[in-house]
Amino acid sequence: MLAEWLLSSNYTVVFTGAGMSTESGLPDFRSNHSGLWKKKDPSKIASITALNKNVEEFMEFYRERVIGVKEFGPHEGHFILARWEKQGIIHSIITQNVDGFHQEAGSKRVAELHGTLQKVRCQSCGKEYTSETYVNKKFYCDCGGVLRPNIVLFGEMLPQDAFQFAQEEAEKAELFIVLGSSLTVTPANQFPLIAKEKGAKLVIVNLEPTNLDIYADEVIHGEKIGELLKEIDGYISNE
Ligand code: NAD
Repeated sequence: MLAEWLLSSNYTVVFTGAGMSTESGLPDFRSNHSGLWKKKDPSKIASITALNKNVEEFMEFYRERVIGVKEFGPHEGHFILARWEKQGIIHSIITQNVDGFHQEAGSKRVAELHGTLQKVRCQSCGKEYTSETYVNKKFYCDCGGVLRPNIVLFGEMLPQDAFQFAQEEAEKAELFIVLGSSLTVTPANQFPLIAKEKGAKLVIVNLEPTNLDIYADEVIHGEKIGELLKEIDGYISNE
């Protein structure tokens, strides 16, 4: 059915969360068994307070996350989404992920709501560096300011341009597909509801149930995103 909806929709927006990248090898935050959230509480470390008060632990945590992301890359599911964009099957991606895998796979119209771990920037002057800088344990800018990952920390606003793009795309969507998000992080989790309110069909694909399942036209649990996308891609190619 999802394949049929994809083929008949004139405007499809995909919304991804950490579950999109677990098949690349990156842990998510809240899965029952393996989530990163179970080991440490990112709301404490990944926060503007930690950056200001506990800067060494903050830098070490993020250096490890940067290295973690660099060890992996997009999987087949990311590449299928990038190809679907070229083919006009989907129109944009709104992601909460900070790994940069959608762009690495070739997706162009991507709103990174929570920024990216692929870059760091100076907290004082705003100068950007690649995140190699962190890997090489350079934690301070040439101006002396603290370098921090170019992501949204707990307690910070979302980037205005990504937010606006996501808002416009959610409003335009005829079909809005959530892939791998617990839909617990606000305000990102408002976009599926905005799309639904504006008349889109809402599909939620997630291993576990989410609080927004009741609003969905279709919910797919217990199936891995990569496998599902391959299945749908096979169906679409034969049409
Ligand atoms: P989350 O961890 O809260 O939820 C992920 C969901 O994905 C879980 O409910 C899990 O059941 C599901 N899932 C895991 N693997 C799956 C698979 N293969 N197929 C289908 N479903 C699968 O993630 P979230 O909702 O994105 O919110 C977490 C926050 O953490 C976001 O703000 C994000 O920025 C950040 N984060 C990002 C990354 C990344 O960039 N890859 C990784 C961890 C956390």
